[in-house]
Amino acid sequence: MLAQSTLNAPFAQAVLTWYDKFGRKHLPWQQNKTLYGVWLSEVMLQQTQVATVIPYFERFVKTFPNLTTLADAPLDEVLHLWTGLGYYARARNLHKAAQVMRDQYCGKFPTEFEQVLALPGVGRSTAGAILSSCLNAPYAILDGNVKRVLSRYFAVNGWPGEKKTEDRLWQLTGEVTPNAQVADFNQAMMDLGAMVCTRSKPKCGLCPLQSNCRANAEQNWQVYPGKKTKKALPERESYFLLLEKDGKVALEQRENAGLWGGLYCFPQFVDKQELLAYLASNGIQQYQEWAAFRHTFSHFHLDIYPIYARFDDQTNSEDVDRSDWKKVAEKQNQYQSALLSAVKYWYDPQNPNPIGLATPVKNLLTQYVRNRYGKNGVL
Ligand code: SF4
Repeated sequence: MLAQSTLNAPFAQAVLTWYDKFGRKHLPWQQNKTLYGVWLSEVMLQQTQVATVIPYFERFVKTFPNLTTLADAPLDEVLHLWTGLGYYARARNLHKAAQVMRDQYCGKFPTEFEQVLALPGVGRSTAGAILSSCLNAPYAILDGNVKRVLSRYFAVNGWPGEKKTEDRLWQLTGEVTPNAQVADFNQAMMDLGAMVCTRSKPKCGLCPLQSNCRANAEQNWQVYPGKKTKKALPERESYFLLLEKDGKVALEQRENAGLWGGLYCFPQFVDKQELLAYLASNGIQQYQEWAAFRHTFSHFHLDIYPIYARFDDQTNSEDVDRSDWKKVAEKQNQYQSALLSAVKYWYDPQNPNPIGLATPVKNLLTQYVRNRYGKNGVL
């Protein structure tokens, strides 16, 4: 959406004057600005707050200082650095987009709106934010913060996730965005949403838009933006097997698409019986049940039941006569080679490889290290 306002329009003037005094100008991606750095920050900021993003951004640019290093890196390393930031499709798309730019644009970030928009993981608002921020190109943006400010200022009814409401907000953001100083204006709108027109208890007394804001006049900011009709999230459950052998833990890499795509997880089972049958088929009789916990995704709750077991010298089937050491050793070897061919990846928490781990998996590994090696174990 192209900016349609001018610098002397009251809305733009009020916002820019406020930005001069109070806006954020010291964020890491605002220093020595590059299209690459701003793109990284914009993708990280989708669904995530600035304070959380900063350390991830700093680690990322240190490891991948430019497009080519990111494109050439193994996806596992990218996911490893993303671990804990959530919404992992963003990391996979970032990596894919870097490869597109390496292969199609000679490792340079494109500067045409349509080309930026065509990159994996880049939507209309992100494309506008990147080009306006780095090149002052006259594109309006519409992230969550801007949606909130405009919904309240213009009293726009409806949930912004609905096409009709979103279209209306796009039209309004185009109308208020000036065709000059766009970088500052867009940053100011994001800052206003994050610092003044906050989700709860907006500080209307400090807001440069106060005098013409409909929600302020009607004292009903709670109504905007309209909420999605809430449905109760469905509940699912999964049994996670923390299977240890010689200090290493069995992990499986998930398919590249979908939930936790490309990340490493423990083997999962739909119920306890299935998990115990798997242990029995590997000669393991002993196990520990750890405390269950809930992990909530945007569209469902997952109740996780962790079970810890160890493959060791005691592992063999109950029906083997333990006084017959030869038979015991034979059975042990049999189980061991079956297990080694079934488990493709053994993770060493004492000497971890850089791979992407889903947050509950990382937390359980930390718990495992603490149980096994005490407080000073490594992960
Ligand atoms: S006056 Fe209040 S509700 Fe209106 S935009 Fe400013 S902070 Fe938000």
